Amino acid sequence: MNDNLIYLDNNATTKIDPRVLEVMLPYLTDYFANANSTHQFGLRAHDAVKAARKQVSNLIGAEPNEVIFTSGATEAINLALKGVAENYSNKGKHIITVATEHSAVLDTCKYLESRGFEVSYLSVASDGLIALDELKSLLRPDTILVSVMYVNNETGVVQPIREIASVAHEAGVLFLSDCTQAVGKIAINVNEIGIDLLCLSGHKIYGPKGVGALYVRQSPTRVRIPALLHGGGHERGFRSGTLNVPGIVALGKACEIASLEMDKDSNAILSLRDYLESELCSIEGTSINGNVTNRLYNVSNVLFRGVDSDAIIMGLSNPENDLPLIAVSNGSACTSTSIEPSHVLTAMGLDETAAFNSIRFSIGKYNSREDIPIVVAAIKNIVADLRAMVS
Ligand SMILES: *Cc1c(COP(=O)(O)O)cnc(C)c1O
Repeated sequence: MNDNLIYLDNNATTKIDPRVLEVMLPYLTDYFANANSTHQFGLRAHDAVKAARKQVSNLIGAEPNEVIFTSGATEAINLALKGVAENYSNKGKHIITVATEHSAVLDTCKYLESRGFEVSYLSVASDGLIALDELKSLLRPDTILVSVMYVNNETGVVQPIREIASVAHEAGVLFLSDCTQAVGKIAINVNEIGIDLLCLSGHKIYGPKGVGALYVRQSPTRVRIPALLHGGGHERGFRSGTLNVPGIVALGKACEIASLEMDKDSNAILSLRDYLESELCSIEGTSINGNVTNRLYNVSNVLFRGVDSDAIIMGLSNPENDLPLIAVSNGSACTSTSIEPSHVLTAMGLDETAAFNSIRFSIGKYNSREDIPIVVAAIKNIVADLRAMVS
């Protein structure tokens, strides 16, 4: 990585793994064929896509024919939510999701509300976790889908999705999970957990941007969804459009690397996160947002009471000082153009000021132990300066 960059924003996107880039490049240059062409040249692209589909399905314990390649998690989420809504509307028009979901889920639900669907939003406790009792109380005969993310992108809070899946299934309701922040970071088996539809993205797991996938259960029950994109009937009719062969090959490789290396990487990342967090917590007026037990190992969402997070972000990337540029975030990158406080943190009961005083550090496999003291020293300085200004 750039010597002058300490990148702690891995939940927004990750740097591509050089091994992923290496397998992807030939499909942009020499092997540029359309995967649907029937000549020998096309067959090579077709075979590469087939291999990638196996790599992706292996990572989540699915079958290759249950994987649909998309342009990313946002598209996968739209396909899943709108698809289930359309196909199961004869059973009912009620959907249950959570107030702390990613905007791709929340905004699609808003759209569905405008089309006559009813959406219930589960609340979360101050630690970010939902309550199964509330889920049970919201289920109705006309509920067609429960949609709960596995790992929250802002706080790393891990929902009890096995239990959620069971509750949904006992009521005969499908379970969708946005697993964009979980896939490739923790072991996932769609059959053990009981996930019917799962969304994932390449660029969150050291793959390129613009590619992702939707898992749609085909057995023992077959989830049926109509296409969003119509055209040549690609992806078994679920998603038309010439396949993004380089992106798909890259996603496959990223999934293969994750399945082989996630255990090793997770231990290293956890130790960096805990090191960073314990140092930051020594600063007065600092606390951690989100349940610290049920939380993914790579995220630390920290509240620096009374200190504006935008000022911290700017201070950390100030070209005037000789420190490396340190990249962190507040809120999620997907909504960071808005000046609203984080909907995730406010749903957890933080007031607006506290939400605006919170910073997300998300660590990845390319961070090193030497980064941490530099970050801690920079934060300590900035927090002290900003507090001195207001007092
Ligand atoms: C990044 C992210 C998305 C969106 O993924 P894209 O591939 O960028 O569309 C959706 N959900 C979560 C939890 C994410 O972190």
